Amino acid sequence: MISVVLFDLDDTLFAHRRAVEDGVVAHLRSTGLVDPDADFAAEAARWSALEEHHYTRYLHGELDYLGQRRARAADFLRPYGVEFDSDAAAEDWFETYLREYRAAWTLHHDALPALRTLSQFRLGIITNGVTHFQQPKLEALGISSFFEHVITSGDFGAVKPDPSIFLHACSVFGVEPSQAAYVGDRLNTDAVGASRAGLLGIWLNRAGDRAGLETAEVANAGIQTISTLADLSACLAGAI
Ligand SMILES: [Mg+2]
Repeated sequence: MISVVLFDLDDTLFAHRRAVEDGVVAHLRSTGLVDPDADFAAEAARWSALEEHHYTRYLHGELDYLGQRRARAADFLRPYGVEFDSDAAAEDWFETYLREYRAAWTLHHDALPALRTLSQFRLGIITNGVTHFQQPKLEALGISSFFEHVITSGDFGAVKPDPSIFLHACSVFGVEPSQAAYVGDRLNTDAVGASRAGLLGIWLNRAGDRAGLETAEVANAGIQTISTLADLSACLAGAI
């Protein structure tokens, strides 16, 4: 019987990619580096891809936290002929971007209604990030009071999909893995990782992506798939 429901934060509850892309477009417009009629959608997509690349390197221990920020800023501005002359200059550029990113923070439209339907469960977060960056998001978005515990990879020292971070979360809640579900937007990092640790893995597949779903591990792992958080309650009811 499931008594604890754990969530990924970025792109599961919080509309991260939208904030990243709106934030970098606002930042680019303010720098004057780019023509007003430039292809901002392409630049936003390039920035998102650089985040994916360098943040993954950070999660694998190849860069430190500020290092991945500097690498993203340097790679992004290189096509404009901009080279930072110090680490501090790259970090300053990133901090200015972050102001626009924060101004663009929103929840996915289905997040708050879904959280409100889960009052019979204890709720928590497991996020691949650092506490000082993730906790303010929960507070600014007005959802921190829903969650009994927020587990960050930065504090714990291992990242999803490593089973240890899922087992740690269960231990913090004092439940067996079989009593917990984990909901996230990444099939392998979130749903498969949780399932390997013995939790019910629920993949939030907003885009309707079929790739990977037919693999034997996914088919055999009992992973549930939903396309919107509006279906989460029904999904959990099936698991109870
Ligand atoms: Mg996510």
